[in-house]
Amino acid sequence: MTDDWKDKTKLVHAGVRRSGYGEVSEAIFLTQGFVYDTAEMAEARFVEAGPDEFIYARYGNPTVRMFEERIAALEGTEDAFATASGMAAVNAALFAMLKAGDRVVSSRALFGSCLYILEDVLPRFGVEVEFVDGTDLAAWEKAVTPGTKAVFFESIANPTLDLIDIKSVCEIAHRVGASVVVDNVFSTPLFARPIELGADVIVYSATKHIDGQGRVLGGVVLGTQEFIRKTLEPYLKHTGGALSPFNAWVLLKGLETLKLRCDAQAASALEIASALEGDARLNTVNFPHLPSHPQYDLAKAQMTAGGTVLSLDIKGGKTSAFRMLNALRIVTISNNLGDAKSIVTHPATTTHQRLTEDQRAMLGITDGLIRLSVGLEDVSDLIGDLKQALDAI
Ligand SMILES: *Cc1c(COP(=O)(O)O)cnc(C)c1O
Repeated sequence: MTDDWKDKTKLVHAGVRRSGYGEVSEAIFLTQGFVYDTAEMAEARFVEAGPDEFIYARYGNPTVRMFEERIAALEGTEDAFATASGMAAVNAALFAMLKAGDRVVSSRALFGSCLYILEDVLPRFGVEVEFVDGTDLAAWEKAVTPGTKAVFFESIANPTLDLIDIKSVCEIAHRVGASVVVDNVFSTPLFARPIELGADVIVYSATKHIDGQGRVLGGVVLGTQEFIRKTLEPYLKHTGGALSPFNAWVLLKGLETLKLRCDAQAASALEIASALEGDARLNTVNFPHLPSHPQYDLAKAQMTAGGTVLSLDIKGGKTSAFRMLNALRIVTISNNLGDAKSIVTHPATTTHQRLTEDQRAMLGITDGLIRLSVGLEDVSDLIGDLKQALDAI
């Protein structure tokens, strides 16, 4: 029914389950459990629960189900399973499909906690993980050998904003039968559709753009019904990564305005990147839809907008970067992204502090690099704030 709806309609109406009261706004089913009229009904439900039947909130809940169905309709996947955080989604997607002896190839440029799972945790359970420069297709070709079980990458690397060529990497992976798991946070569920480019499993931290207002943690894994129900659900329902029904409701409300917010934030991000490019205090301005981005053609082909995050490499390293951050009046120093409030981060001393200097250098994370998540403020106010802060260096 929802297949021919446009994104904005799906974001408001898909997945609605109205109770007998006919409520307009989705109900919050803040309940752990569900009662059965008879012992026979309980028995039958444990054998197989129907689409409108629930057992226990760790397995599923009507409010959580509404969120799952709405995001699956948007993404164009058959099914979805919501999780307590983005990391619960990444962890479950990988652990549910892998076993000792399997081989995984991953892009090296990863969100810190994703790197921890792939570099520290999976190898402890006998999974072999090889890291490649995700922008280098020849490196993927070489590493994705027959027998490789899964390929993992973030569609846009944080914070350098290098792109992975989703379609080409999926082709390389599928040649040897490997599943492709894409963390699509930086592209948002709107600007790149990995499923249309061949990806098998997509994960989001819903904490970012989907909430978009800094309130709750959440995550979601999307894929075929076969993968979600046969592989992922047994793992997640018994290991406890379930999303709270209250948080699911906040995220449902977030989805209703997702496109309006992301479109506005992406337009401002492009305007800010263009306004700052060429500033004498900066080495580089990185933004996928800026013509100077080294992968501009790929960014235009793969993404309908450049995203809501840009990064700036400030001359003078950490000292200059800190002076600029401390001089900002509107943009706040924090580490979330996709928020209505513009947020600036100094990755080398915060999100990527755990890496060695060599690792940071390899990923292009200089001491002068700052990441800017563009919010919903008036763009001229933001440009003014950023310029006066650069003056303060
Ligand atoms: C934030 C983030 C995560 C983790 O999400 P949480 O909701 O914080 O657990 C994973 N991947 C990427 C790319 C992220 O930005």
